[in-house]
Amino acid sequence: MARFIFITGGVVSSLGKGLTSAALGAILQARGYSVRLRKLDPYLNVDPGTMSPFEHGEVFVTDDGAETDLDLGHYERFTGVAARATDSVSSGRIYSTVLEKERRGDYLGKTIQVIPHVTNEIKDFIHIGEDEVDFMLCEIGGTVGDIEGLPFFEAIRQFAQEQPRGQCVFLHLTLLPYLAASGELKTKPTQHSVKELRSIGLAPDVLVCRSEHKIPDKERDKIALFCNVRTEAVIPAYDLKSIYEAPLAYHKVGLDQAVLDAFGISDAPQPDMTRWVEVEDRIHNAEGEVRIAIVGKYTQLEDAYKSIAEALTHGGMANRVRVKVDWVDAEIFESDDPSSRLQRFHAILVPGGFGERGTEGKIKAAQFAREKGIPYLGICLGMQMAVIEAARNLAGLPDAGSEEFDHESGEKRFTPVVYHLKEWVQGNATVNRKVDDDKGGTMRLGAYTAVLKDGSKVADIYGTTEIEERHRHRYEVDNKYRAQLEREGLVFSGMSPDGRLPEIVEWQDHPWFIGVQFHPELKSKPFDPHPLFEDFIRAAKDMSRLV
Ligand code: GLN
Repeated sequence: MARFIFITGGVVSSLGKGLTSAALGAILQARGYSVRLRKLDPYLNVDPGTMSPFEHGEVFVTDDGAETDLDLGHYERFTGVAARATDSVSSGRIYSTVLEKERRGDYLGKTIQVIPHVTNEIKDFIHIGEDEVDFMLCEIGGTVGDIEGLPFFEAIRQFAQEQPRGQCVFLHLTLLPYLAASGELKTKPTQHSVKELRSIGLAPDVLVCRSEHKIPDKERDKIALFCNVRTEAVIPAYDLKSIYEAPLAYHKVGLDQAVLDAFGISDAPQPDMTRWVEVEDRIHNAEGEVRIAIVGKYTQLEDAYKSIAEALTHGGMANRVRVKVDWVDAEIFESDDPSSRLQRFHAILVPGGFGERGTEGKIKAAQFAREKGIPYLGICLGMQMAVIEAARNLAGLPDAGSEEFDHESGEKRFTPVVYHLKEWVQGNATVNRKVDDDKGGTMRLGAYTAVLKDGSKVADIYGTTEIEERHRHRYEVDNKYRAQLEREGLVFSGMSPDGRLPEIVEWQDHPWFIGVQFHPELKSKPFDPHPLFEDFIRAAKDMSRLV
């Protein structure tokens, strides 16, 4: 049976709980243990699928088609363990399950209450798959003291109480603010945060303290004394240049040792950190720089494209170049000519997105990349816009567009080169959807196989002709325009196994122009960069030598 590590946060939000959990998972793995990481989010949305990227950052999609928190992306990037639908849960999901059961009569005769019905549901979730791994790391979203978080804190308290002694460890992440006027790090917020935890029956075993300044020994001792943890279990977390330094940095300051000590494990193997030494070496010993423009809509918040930014970094690491990303708002090109803004870049990436706003600008960016021979990677909406550009400017379909925009405006303005997909095959089953279905979880979601055309650029890049990638979209390029577009040189180089759904397009006579209907960024790792990103950066590097 697994040992459980519960990760909570206090003082302020955005301290990097997800990253700390992911890094700890990676070090435990390096010690030879198997791990799985989970996120329990107190918000009331059933999943983050319906939240604005401005509010919540990217939606991370799992192979089995769940729309989850972006922290699951960190977990995967650090451990290589593919996240599952059962690795992410929210209050909304828990409550809707409890309410469904109530309606079904599962609790007949009972009054439904937070304790025990909601807390039981949370505990059941934590137990899923517990026999599969050595360590289950469960991160509780939000900050201790949040009203919505209470059922989760209560559930993990009960959970630990029900397990054999020594089976659960609590790790709490806090902040030591620095007061410049007095030149001091302040420990009081940490003390209060731990006090808050203890008031709901949770006593942390390990404290991870974020700090911009070195934590003096005397402050560490003080935190240990006031918070009732051992001094060695007060772990400093200093700012790092790259998130990928975290596993080595945390190991150096004894995070994994403190956790193992808290479990009473004395015979743990020493970690083999070779993978992370290599990753650090690639980050620090990069030569030269490539400049990439991401032409998108949610450019004010980098978290909206978190996995893309990380996958580009991985591509840079593979090619030993630094990747400098500039976020360009697609709407600018609706009035401005793209060349003035885009010509200084070595490659252009147009990411996924929803809704019409900004799409005319993305179409212009795709045209610019095609005509000027600049490497272009179009992801999901970025692929759809590249196809629409080709249809409008080369294939004699001046009104080409996406049905998505007609549905949004309620008018019929476009020739639907990209149309709403109502029926498709998933495994052995047929999935049916209507335009006005619920918005949550009704897209083509999760891993699907694509068959690549022999001799195509993508077959060469992947080194195979069958791939599996993750999807998240409602609309699809219409295969009936294929012949018309292929005549112009746009190769449909990846198709669904039944040959109906175009998954990849590429321009034949272009140094590097690829559009993919799926999200390759979700599967890239620092120690195993995604082939498309690796080759995209290689092409950008070639470009940087030319200019
Ligand atoms: N809005 C488009 C669709 O639903 C693209 C989605 C995306 O880019 N993830 O098909």
